[in-house]
Amino acid sequence: MQSHAQVVVVGGGVVGCSVLYHLAKSGCTDALLLERDELTCGSTWHAAGGVHTINGDPNVAKLQKYTIDLYREIEQLSGQSTGLHLTGGVMLAATEARFDWLKSMVAKGRYLGIEARIITPARAHELLPLLDPSCFVGALETVVDGHVDPSGTTHAYAKAARALGARIERFTKVEELVQCPDRSWRVVTNKGEIRTQHVVNAGGLWAREVGRMVGREHPVLAMEHMYLITEDIPEVAAINAATSKEVLHAVDFDGELYLRQERGGMLIGTYEKDCKPWAEHETPWSFGHELLTPDIDRIAPSMEVAFRHFPALQKAGIRKVVNGPFTFAPDGNPLIGPVRGLPGYWCACGVMAGFSQGGGVGLALANWILQGDPGFDVWAMDVARYGDWASKAYTNTKVRENYARRFSIRFPNEELPAGRPLRTSPLYERLKAAGAQFGVTAGLEVPLWYAPAGVRDAFSWYRSTDFSTIAEEVRAVRERVGLIETTGFAKYRITGLAASSWLDRLLACALPPPGRMTLAPMLKTDGRLIGDFTLANLGQEGYLLVGSGAAEEYHLRWFHEHLPEDGSVRLSAHATSIAGLAIAGPRARDLLARITTADVSASAFRFMDVRRLPLGLASALVARLSYTGDLGYEFWCDPDYQLPLYEALLAAGADLGIRLFGSRALNSMRLEKAYGSWAREYRPIYSPLEAGLDRFVALEKNAPFIGQESARREHTTGGRLRLRCFVVEVENADVIGDEPIWDADEVRGWVTSGGFAHHAGVSVAMGYVAKEVADRDGPWSIEILGKRHIARLQPRPLFDPEGRRLRG
Ligand SMILES: Cc1cc2nc3c(=O)[nH]c(=O)nc-3n(C[C@H](O)[C@H](O)[C@H](O)COP(=O)(O)OP(=O)(O)OC[C@H]3O[C@@H](n4cnc5c(N)ncnc54)[C@H](O)[C@@H]3O)c2cc1C
Repeated sequence: MQSHAQVVVVGGGVVGCSVLYHLAKSGCTDALLLERDELTCGSTWHAAGGVHTINGDPNVAKLQKYTIDLYREIEQLSGQSTGLHLTGGVMLAATEARFDWLKSMVAKGRYLGIEARIITPARAHELLPLLDPSCFVGALETVVDGHVDPSGTTHAYAKAARALGARIERFTKVEELVQCPDRSWRVVTNKGEIRTQHVVNAGGLWAREVGRMVGREHPVLAMEHMYLITEDIPEVAAINAATSKEVLHAVDFDGELYLRQERGGMLIGTYEKDCKPWAEHETPWSFGHELLTPDIDRIAPSMEVAFRHFPALQKAGIRKVVNGPFTFAPDGNPLIGPVRGLPGYWCACGVMAGFSQGGGVGLALANWILQGDPGFDVWAMDVARYGDWASKAYTNTKVRENYARRFSIRFPNEELPAGRPLRTSPLYERLKAAGAQFGVTAGLEVPLWYAPAGVRDAFSWYRSTDFSTIAEEVRAVRERVGLIETTGFAKYRITGLAASSWLDRLLACALPPPGRMTLAPMLKTDGRLIGDFTLANLGQEGYLLVGSGAAEEYHLRWFHEHLPEDGSVRLSAHATSIAGLAIAGPRARDLLARITTADVSASAFRFMDVRRLPLGLASALVARLSYTGDLGYEFWCDPDYQLPLYEALLAAGADLGIRLFGSRALNSMRLEKAYGSWAREYRPIYSPLEAGLDRFVALEKNAPFIGQESARREHTTGGRLRLRCFVVEVENADVIGDEPIWDADEVRGWVTSGGFAHHAGVSVAMGYVAKEVADRDGPWSIEILGKRHIARLQPRPLFDPEGRRLRG
């Protein structure tokens, strides 16, 4: 066996073979795949092989489309059939809520290039005569839907990779992974050692075991999954005869079922509620080409629905039941990318739909390894969305929840209960007693809104039970003063001799002088956004950087990649070890003045000033800014002082009419200021120019910063997109995100976020549109739940466009 390779891929399932193929296709022929047994001998060989493009996340949908489009290419290159049958498909809705979801999928498809249309139950019956139309309220018809042969597909990737020069060693088990001082890796196998710059964990069912070789516990868990194959069904033969086609693919969400033709019968799979993890702690190395014992009782409830919804199945005999394990991350999306602290180690794990997603995963990995960037938006799949808080026990409970809900609707206001509470701030019990309804950011409980006694979220696509309360929270801020808990933001401290020069290179903004703050975009070399922060210069105390809590691990990975090795910069992430509170509203200054002896008058403590102040019994770093767009102050303190500070603010603010508010009210207020937020408006596919953050990019600053050249180029070319704000004429459903934006009769953009701006009294959508049309008056419209609504471009912020409240 060779002793060196540029990249070693561990695992010869569909995912590992796709990674190898994409590496070779990108010119990296010094790539070697190691498989401990035969190719496909993990979860790949017993998959049902279903492929489809529809996915709730548009970026995952794009990746699925890419994967399916790729099959013809690898067939041609390899001469190996993937067994691709593009039958087309129907996705069925038995409830109005599901039907609304299907309508939103069709809408997304318009800008993703995914062909899908809404059809009636009668039309669905014409397409799939096995179903009983009276069980459904509507359906979605897709064109790119079908199935592949799992083994043929994997071998097609493998053969195509070999044809391009990559190599595969079977029966070669990786037993140890050791990082060398020069950052290369020793890959120790049962057949000898290999040195490599990059190791890809595509271990599938053994991804945890491979992760443990590098000292990491990846948040993946395998679940048992069953499908059955019926004996021949006369109605299937009749359809084949009448149409000269295979029966098309079907997903019946309310029955938790998927179906397709298999020979003369049907293959029926289900994500049962009564689900069962497999090998919870350790995957046996002896497992390979075995199946698990079927447990028909577990899938019986879904089968009963299947018999009702598809009456022809009632008389069909069962030829075979397959029960096999495959892995999931806590949210069901793949775990891909580099891992902080392990240069050259890459994840391609937790791919639960390897035949729909494996191609895109392989492409992203190859781009990332060879060019330093995945090349498209993989935020939803990035391994860095989980930090150390995603323990084995957390993963276990979330994966079960995710599996059982695989075909359930997740409403935009729905917070899932498993694995909670995990991380809490010191105020958690107090806020809960005050009615806080919590959501979760990186495992931390964050207050969304404060519900009156007896009121809870009613999950819906439409405005719900929180609407009037959020209006009151917003009113309190805009007319008096509101208090919000903000521990959920990520906080980093940067100190050391080279702190300033390092930040100057890392961030695109000009560094603020001591005692001041600035907004700080962070760019990749291609000039696109990899972060947006508030940067505070604390003088002798170094710098404080505040950013998205959900992106903490993601940003830490980037910071660590760029930290000098000589110790001249020290970076610490504070997560919950710095607690946060913030006040906002016209009486915020009066409130602050009541709890401090410091001069906080408008001239003494200006907008974007930051300083440490005594506050009642405690002290805190106080920053004069507010994401509400109003007069406001943020407080950052030791967690020990959060409760006394909270009590001091509430007591001093009582006669000012202080009120607690949560992140939903905050969202409503930032929308009327047209402020963007990370992972919605700001993502690694947009440039600061497109996102409207260019005024914070110091293109001409002396210190060269990462992405400077690209940002300068973009400044000249003007980019492709523009972030815009719209006021939408709606009835009782606001945008959620990912809706298409129409310019007359053409889709020219997509929504990134939105909601009801309570103070302005209008429904708002933010989104990207093509630059050429971005400043047109329209006619614009935005499609919400299957209906196009008139949208008006809102060029100036709806609230305080001159910034008088904010700066006054
Ligand atoms: C019953 C069932 C039905 C399914 N239906 C579908 C479907 O319809 N559509 C769909 O898209 N997906 C389906 N799946 C899921 C699909 O099978 C997986 O998404 C896919 O197989 C994951 O592939 P993988 O390469 O990540 O992992 P695996 O297939 O598990 O491959 C991992 C490989 O790594 C090797 N390996 C691990 N550790 C080492 C080591 N240390 N050294 C060397 N080699 C190692 C293993 O031997 C194995 O071959 C189904 C799964 C099951 C169980």
